[in-house]
Amino acid sequence: MGLLIRFANQWVAGERLEDAVRATKEVNAKGLDAILNLLGEHYTEKEEVEGTLREYLHALDAIEKQNLNASVSIKPSQFGLELGRAYCESTIVPVFDRVRAMGDFLWFDMESSRFTEDTLAMYEDLHRRHHDVGVCLQAALKRTAKDLDRVLGFGGKVRLVKGAYREPDDVAYKTHAEVDAAYGRLLRTLFEAGDHFAVATHDGKFVDEAIRLSKTHKRIWEFQMLMGVRDPLKRELTAKGYKVSEYIPYGPNWLPYFLRRLRERPRNALTMIRSFVQG
Ligand SMILES: Cc1cc2nc3c(=O)[nH]c(=O)nc-3n(C[C@H](O)[C@H](O)[C@H](O)COP(=O)(O)OP(=O)(O)OC[C@H]3O[C@@H](n4cnc5c(N)ncnc54)[C@H](O)[C@@H]3O)c2cc1C
Repeated sequence: MGLLIRFANQWVAGERLEDAVRATKEVNAKGLDAILNLLGEHYTEKEEVEGTLREYLHALDAIEKQNLNASVSIKPSQFGLELGRAYCESTIVPVFDRVRAMGDFLWFDMESSRFTEDTLAMYEDLHRRHHDVGVCLQAALKRTAKDLDRVLGFGGKVRLVKGAYREPDDVAYKTHAEVDAAYGRLLRTLFEAGDHFAVATHDGKFVDEAIRLSKTHKRIWEFQMLMGVRDPLKRELTAKGYKVSEYIPYGPNWLPYFLRRLRERPRNALTMIRSFVQG
């Protein structure tokens, strides 16, 4: 387990809030903003949800007191979406209110497709009360073109990703080529019809495409990338004056996130096995 944790540490700041704060200070020093995510998902016990709420409030205290350039990104299923939308929204509201009071920004992660509709409905509700809140949309889902129109229609703020979850064939594109084609279309829509959005990818062709689109469409937007991925590219973009935020996950429940990162890039699994063999 120790070796696994050490390997996971390239993508996860550590198990405690102090680890996330340290990682945030490091990225802030390099000119990047941080987006903190407390790992954990699919909670079905209210104690777990309440613990998550307390942890995010501590994280927001740390951001404010230590003057960090950071926001938080939450997963609805860690706020009790498995227990119903009304309950989930009621547990998100204290975080939302705290973010609003301190003038920060709140991101909603997007989880597997069974949560998409509820996540968007909660997002729309909260966005009506305060606009500094954004939601992730996944190019892999066939519904996303419509969802993007809906979110842009009420002035919402979007983080565009390819999508990290295994999905049934009827709801998601299956091949990399299909997902890439969808990402390209959605990216164009964002630049043509959106504002205040995030291009969240490590894929060089979409980084280049976003830069190209930004020349003809003057928008407020940023790149977002994960901790531990493409650090030289982050440096290069920051040096050229593009805003880059780094998503920094932390917390003891890091295993599902770690497995998603391994699955995305099989070469990482090979490196891990090699380092285990070499001790
Ligand atoms: C800030 C942020 C937030 C996210 N939030 C969510 C979310 O809420 N919900 C969700 O489902 N998903 C989320 N994701 C994950 C996302 O859906 C993808 O799973 C993940 O970003 C990988 O897709 P990609 O666009 O980077 O391209 P990929 O298809 O994984 O990679 C494309 C190309 O990028 C390059 N590349 C990728 N990784 C590396 C590397 N380590 N080193 C060098 N080159 C590399 C390679 O050229 C590769 O061929 C998030 C991602 C980011 C960056």
